[in-house]
Amino acid sequence: MMKRLLVVVDMQKDFIDGSLGTAEAEQIVPAVKEKIAEYRKAGDEVVFTMDTHSGEYLQTQEGRKLPVPHCIKGSAGWELCEALKDEPGQRFEKGTFGSRKLAEWAAAQEFASVEVVGLCTDICVISNALLLKAFMPETPIRVDASCCAGVTPQSHANALEAMKMCQIEVCEAC
Ligand SMILES: [Zn+2]
Repeated sequence: MMKRLLVVVDMQKDFIDGSLGTAEAEQIVPAVKEKIAEYRKAGDEVVFTMDTHSGEYLQTQEGRKLPVPHCIKGSAGWELCEALKDEPGQRFEKGTFGSRKLAEWAAAQEFASVEVVGLCTDICVISNALLLKAFMPETPIRVDASCCAGVTPQSHANALEAMKMCQIEVCEAC
């Protein structure tokens, strides 16, 4: 039987209680942890992406548009949050919103479905969901809204609408 894949996007300290943290991000941690446990119990695959920048962050395109250093490799803020840091599972470090390596790796396997959760709904969750959709057009791709948070509640809601239009299945606590 084909396994399901759960992609946990950027659940790193800087996006939760660090330089780009939000109360909404803190609130989803228990639901994400529960989702991971559910996948593991069913024998399914769980992987993590990690936003990863160097000390030259402010000179990058992203840094010019968002001049808040975050997820500098090796810093405390780059680490996965306390509740998730000991979870087993492959880590995909990425310097871009979507992970090309993740998409190539996932497309080379046979997964029954892909579910994307994590941070932030409106930047890296949507980027990875759409990238995976492009690499795996026949694989159902789902996003659980209750396991995601955006830069603002409004941009979170906007991103969910945009993903629905692109045939990503958006559910709430599914
Ligand atoms: Zn970044």
